[in-house]
Amino acid sequence: MTLTLAKKSINLKISPLVWGAWRWGKAAQDAQALNRLIQHCLQLGISSFDHADIYGGYTAEAAFGQALALSPGLRDQVQLLTKCGIRMVSPQRPQQLSKTFSSSAAYIAASIAQSLRNFGTDRLDLWMLHRPDLLMDAQETASALDSAVDAGLVRAVGVSNFSVSQVTLLQKFLRAPLAVNQIELSLAKRDAFSDGVLDQCQTLGIRPMAWSPLDGGALFGDSPLAQRLRPELARIAAAHACTPDAVALAWLMRHPAGIVPIMGSAQLPRITDAARAMHLQLSSEDWYALWVGSHWRSPALAP
Ligand code: NAP
Repeated sequence: MTLTLAKKSINLKISPLVWGAWRWGKAAQDAQALNRLIQHCLQLGISSFDHADIYGGYTAEAAFGQALALSPGLRDQVQLLTKCGIRMVSPQRPQQLSKTFSSSAAYIAASIAQSLRNFGTDRLDLWMLHRPDLLMDAQETASALDSAVDAGLVRAVGVSNFSVSQVTLLQKFLRAPLAVNQIELSLAKRDAFSDGVLDQCQTLGIRPMAWSPLDGGALFGDSPLAQRLRPELARIAAAHACTPDAVALAWLMRHPAGIVPIMGSAQLPRITDAARAMHLQLSSEDWYALWVGSHWRSPALAP
């Protein structure tokens, strides 16, 4: 099962649930184990994998490329999503003396070329600007992105953590339609429901992707929010014979903007359980029960 991005001119399909390499990149990187994880995801219908140049201290993309290379043909079964824009202080980048953000044409071109080498591929399926660069020259950045698309180095381009006005600004100069805006979104982080980002995604045909859709696991911890949500999540999970993880992901996917969550667990059983979300359709009653529950400070303010 894949989603075609809303604009016909965007030549990209992504799976309704994406696996993200951020947390995995921080741990020991075993190519064989990762190869098994990729195959496991594919069997479940998760074919898109989210990266950034900086994950694993600039090592995760290459480790993922090694895992792909273990199985001939595997590269063509997956969609590689990656980003750049945050310049970290790292032994891998000795020339970077302080953390900065960049969106210059030269930096973007060099970064895309490096990601292609890391993955051992000739094209990236989706490339995103990781965070807004307050010094962004939108015309220059747009030109760099269009050049990458025109050269066939990236199939589609997008942004991450962009506000409504930042998307409008960049799209004004960009020929290629922005394919995604990857934002923090979960039952715990709900800004995009009211700050216009999800509305803009629907208006412009941009696919919203939700990072940390389980709030990094904190949704299942002991915070007041987690305690408030636990009975509702458990009730809905029991009704659908699935886990609370799957319900929390399905809650995002139920929204008409077509939210694509990016899950971060590298535990195969947890991935299996989460994948059930792709086959769940929450009722509006259940959706609003969780919405009200998520407003644990002021439930009366929830509609
Ligand atoms: P997440 O799925 O919200 O969190 C994953 C964490 O939740 C893991 O540590 C996992 O633990 C834990 N977890 C899951 N189910 C649990 C349960 N039932 N009980 C307790 N803990 C549970 O996603 P994320 O890892 O924060 O982020 C996902 C992806 O989003 C990243 O990999 C990255 O690709 C992307 N991202 C993008 C940005 C951006 O700026 N664009 C920023 C951050 C992340 P286990 O590992 O033990 O299973």
